[in-house]
Amino acid sequence: MGFLDEISDSIVNTTKDLGKMAQNAGDITKLQYDKKVKEAELSKLYEKLGKKYYEDNKDSDDEDIKIITAVILRIKEISDEIMQKKGGKPCPKCGSLVKDGSRYCSKCGEKIDDIFEE
Ligand SMILES: [Zn+2]
Repeated sequence: MGFLDEISDSIVNTTKDLGKMAQNAGDITKLQYDKKVKEAELSKLYEKLGKKYYEDNKDSDDEDIKIITAVILRIKEISDEIMQKKGGKPCPKCGSLVKDGSRYCSKCGEKIDDIFEE
């Protein structure tokens, strides 16, 4: 094999290697994306299963169940506090902000004047 043939072969091989490297990089990016999508899907499935488990075991003495119940109650308290600061209360039917003095929920139409007569 002559010198020029060797150079030519070397260039062809280098080009093939670069092509393969680019192909691999593209494959890796796609695989990493697919992995992230599947991981997000798994998280949602765990969350759904966790919620179902919580609903089915709400009254148990399990520590994690108690912690979740406490967090849910705290979220409700914070939500109520936000509504108070906005000058209203949550609608008993849909949970939307009902301004103080309103007789109906502007979102769902629920008659709510009695909740202000406490
Ligand atoms: Zn409502």
